[in-house]
Amino acid sequence: MTSAETSTSETGSAATQLVPCRFSWDELDSHDARDLWKELIEWVNWLRATYQTDTKIKPCWYRHRPAREELTALMVSHKAVYRTDPESAETYREDLTAWHTQWLRSSLDALARMMADCTRDGCAHVKPQAIVVDPEMDQFVTDDVGRRSNTGAPASGSAVGSR
Ligand SMILES: [Zn+2]
Repeated sequence: MTSAETSTSETGSAATQLVPCRFSWDELDSHDARDLWKELIEWVNWLRATYQTDTKIKPCWYRHRPAREELTALMVSHKAVYRTDPESAETYREDLTAWHTQWLRSSLDALARMMADCTRDGCAHVKPQAIVVDPEMDQFVTDDVGRRSNTGAPASGSAVGSR
């Protein structure tokens, strides 16, 4: 994904420019990354203290890229629920419970797995390795595309995903 892509709506008639949100780590400059680190660290410190999550969110969480992404998403969803416009501030709502049951609990389980081998005093983080790309993938895609019509209709008898 590039920093700005053009996408058409479902009708295909209007073009909409898509830009990265400010929580997209790979696309932040140093200033924005520093701001997001500050915001995330404050929020994670609050989360760890409030929910006593030390067995699941270890002190080394910031070293683990997947944990950083998971916690960023969890923070954004938390703020989306707990912050509202002034007119809605007194409204009884159920999405606060949904944040706990749908997002927090499953994220804590995922975070615990990510840092299962880390302790309070030591991090088991290993440097990520490059992903393996199957050398046959390009030919597979070329063959799949070649079986399709160029009229916009789906290919007849196409068995996408099979060999
Ligand atoms: Zn660790």
